[in-house]
Formats: sequence, structure tokens, C-alpha cells
Amino acid sequence: MFDVNEGIIQVSYIIATILFILALGGLSNQETARRGNWYGIIGMAIALVATLVGDVTQNLEFLIIALLVGGTVGIIAARRVRMTQMPELVAILHSLVGLAAVAVGYANFMGEGHYEGIELTIHDVETYIGILIGAVTFSGSVIAFGKLSGRIGGSPLILPARHLLNLVLLVVVIYYGYQFVVQSAAGGGTMPLVIMTVVSLLFGIHMVMAIGGADMPVVVSMLNSYSGWAASAIGFMLGNDLLIVTGALVGSSGAILSYIMCRAMNRKFLAVIAGGFGTGGGTVAAGSGEDQGEVVPISAEETADLLTSAKEVMIIPGYGMAVAQAQHIVNEITQALRAKKVNVRFGIHPVAGRMPGHMNVLLAEAKVPYDIVFEMDEINDDFPDVDVSVVIGANDIVNPSALEEPDGPIGGMPVLECWKGKTSIVLKRSMATGYAGVQNPLFFKENTRMLFGDAKDTLEAVYKAL
Ligand code: NDP
Repeated sequence: MFDVNEGIIQVSYIIATILFILALGGLSNQETARRGNWYGIIGMAIALVATLVGDVTQNLEFLIIALLVGGTVGIIAARRVRMTQMPELVAILHSLVGLAAVAVGYANFMGEGHYEGIELTIHDVETYIGILIGAVTFSGSVIAFGKLSGRIGGSPLILPARHLLNLVLLVVVIYYGYQFVVQSAAGGGTMPLVIMTVVSLLFGIHMVMAIGGADMPVVVSMLNSYSGWAASAIGFMLGNDLLIVTGALVGSSGAILSYIMCRAMNRKFLAVIAGGFGTGGGTVAAGSGEDQGEVVPISAEETADLLTSAKEVMIIPGYGMAVAQAQHIVNEITQALRAKKVNVRFGIHPVAGRMPGHMNVLLAEAKVPYDIVFEMDEINDDFPDVDVSVVIGANDIVNPSALEEPDGPIGGMPVLECWKGKTSIVLKRSMATGYAGVQNPLFFKENTRMLFGDAKDTLEAVYKAL
């Protein structure tokens, strides 16, 4: 529509790419995360404007309407979503990237009349791979959304001979890929493309259904990576360098994150993808089933006494702190204890909560100083010197059976070893299990006290008593 210099668009794309890289760099540290987000926002705005002005030549009005509708839905969804629902939102957004790749792939296939020879073959392969990645990302993300939001059960669906089934699906996809390229040269190709799309959708469903609750964090970041590759594939199909680079950034950072999380949970990436780990996120105490003995409850006043007489306090937040929205009162208590010269630190497990960095975001929101928030690896050896560990709505990440039962659903996952300290106080509402659905022997240990109730209510009572 506009006659804009191609060079200006290319320069805008390069600037946007640099801003995206700066955004990723910024997000790697809490203190620079806000700036990183701004780089990303500005980069995306530049990319959108450059594409609108430069690449779109027809039907601009439809695009603007779609942008307005999509933008409005996005703003409403982002404002409404609670922090605890963030992973679900992320999963469903990944599914949209996958769906877009499928749609672009089909549109591309239908409009490829002007290609021939080797160019047509390359174009066909791009289209085929783009739709393949898009369809797997789409159906896998929808299932992940269902699992994270509790609409689908957390236990892994283990079909008989599932590895063989996956292998057969792979062979089918390769065979129809060949068929597609051959038939497309003769003017056809729709049938193999549709068959591959259906097979890929089924594969995405099967892949995520086979993964158990405890391994869901890895799946979320893996789908993040897939959505990046899907965007990259769209970039190849449309000949858009910015999309190729941005998709590759998302794809590789998601893959690195998946790897880091696998290491944090002591899982092999391939084993997670092959599925079968973890059990349902049920509320009934499962686990070894043995009678573990009695738990010892504690009151808010006694908790306050223990905290004031302590020198070293370690706070271990988990998913329940997010549910209770207790981060602000946690900060108040931290400040009060620090004023009484108690050394308060926070120990953050890499998969605490329901998404990577969940706890860090909440603590930052409540203005807990960054320099007292530590990663698991930094403080796990310090527990013998800790007087009181306060476990706030965390369960799986402080479960000693991860170390004691290597074959259990969370076997081998490193955990915060708070039981090695003097006293652990666990705040939760009931004896229900955590996400992985396994009983936690920590609750029954001699030096553990249970402070039952909603974490925000009980902590407010503790604060009053302080
Ligand atoms: P868990 O889910 O293991 O435990 C949370 C505990 O919080 C529950 O036992 C629950 O007990 C308690 N709780 C819930 N609501 C409240 C409330 N209002 N007040 C007080 N307590 C409450 O969480 P963790 O953070 O310990 O572990 C994370 C788990 O989630 C791991 O298994 C991890 O693999 C998985 N996961 C992590 C993701 C990530 O990316 N970080 C993504 C998806 C899953 P009760 O009901 O008795 O109150």
C-alpha cells in the first residue's frame, strides 16, 4: 500500500532483533527483568509497525480489525489471570502460535502456484515441516493447558507399546512427507498434508498425555521451545527474517530452560519426553501407604516465639503461597524479624510453584530484598545451621522421599533439605498431597511442626503475635 524503502524495513527488523536479544539478556536477572520486558515491548512494537507498513499490501483493514480484537482479548486475559493461572495462560498462548503455523502453512500451500523445480521442493519441505511443528505444538499445548488447569487428570496416560506407536507415527509422517513433495510437483498434495496434520495432532496429544504431573514444568518450557520453532518455520514460509530469528531465540532459550529444569529435577530430557513419570495431582495421600505416625500441630503464637528466638530463619515458599497470595504478609514478617536482628533468607527451588521463576516474581512484587533470596543450590548445604525453616505452602520441593525412594514419582529430584535444620514449620491447610500426588514424610518428622490453615490467615496471626 505504501511505497516504503525496503532498507528502512530491514533496519527496523534488525533493531527489533537486537531489542529481543537485549530483552532475553535482561530477563536473566531479577534486577534487570523490568528493563528486559521494556526492550521486548519496544521491539515487538517496532516489528509490528514495520510489518504493517512494509509487508502488508492488501486488506489492511482486516488486519487492523484482527489486531484490535486480538489485542483486546489479550489485554483482558492478561489482566484477569491470577498468578497461579499463569502457566495455563502461557500454555494456551503457545497453542495459538502452533495454530498460526498450521494456518500459514495451508495458506502457503494453496498460494504456491508460482514456484517450480527445486524452489517448489524447498518450499514444500518448509510448508510440511512448519505444519508438522505447528500441529504438535497446538494439540500438545491444549492438553498441557487442560492438565495445568485441572480439566484433565494429572496422571500419565500410558498406552501399551507407546514407544512403538510413536515410532509408527514418525514413519507415517516421513512417508507422507515424501508423498507430499512428489504429488505437489504434479499439482496435488492436499491428501498427504491433511493426513500428516491429523497424525501430528494425535502425536501432540499422546506426547503430553503420557507425561505425569511432576514433570509438567519441563513440558511447559518444552512447548515454549516448540512454539519458537513453529514461529521460525512461519518465518521460512513467509521469507521473513525477523520471524526466523525471533523464533530461533524463543526455540533455543526454551530448549535451554527445559534442559536446566531437567537437571534441577534430576530427569533425563528424553525420559521426560518419552513420558510415564509422575502421578496424578490428587489430594489423597498416596505414597508408600505405610502409617507414617502422628503430626505435631503448632499455633501461630508458638510460631512467633520460635521465630523471635531464632538466629537463622529460612523461608521456603511454594505453590500454596501463590494460592493464598501471602507474599505481602511474608515480607512484613521478614522485615519485623530483621528488625529484631534475626537473619532471614529465602530458599527457592527451581520448580517451586507452577512455572519457572514463579516464587521470585511474587517475592519481587511484595518487595522482598533480592539479596536475601537464594537459589536451592546456594543454600541447601546451610540447613544444619538453620534454627527455623518456614515452609509456606510448599510440599513436593521439601519431600525427603525424593532422596529416600529413588523409584518413587519424584525420586531423584533434588529437594530443599530443611529437615536437617533445628525445626521446620510447615504451613498448609490439610494433609493433602502436593502436585506430584505423593505423601510427604517431612510432616511426620520429630522436628517438624504443622501450622494448619490458609497461609495468609495463619501468617497474619503470626505477624500479630510478633
Ligand atoms: P506443591 O503443589 O507440591 O504443594 C503445594 C502445597 O500448598 C499443597 O500441599 C497445599 O496443601 C498447599 N496449599 C495450597 N493452597 C494453600 C493455601 N491457601 N494456604 C496454605 N497452603 C496451601 O507445590 P511446590 O511448590 O512444593 O512444588 C511444585 C510442584 O509443582 C512440583 O511437583 C513441580 O514439579 C510442579 N510443577 C511446577 C511447575 C514449575 O514450572 N515450577 C509447573 C507445573 C508443575 P493443602 O491443600 O493441604 O493446603
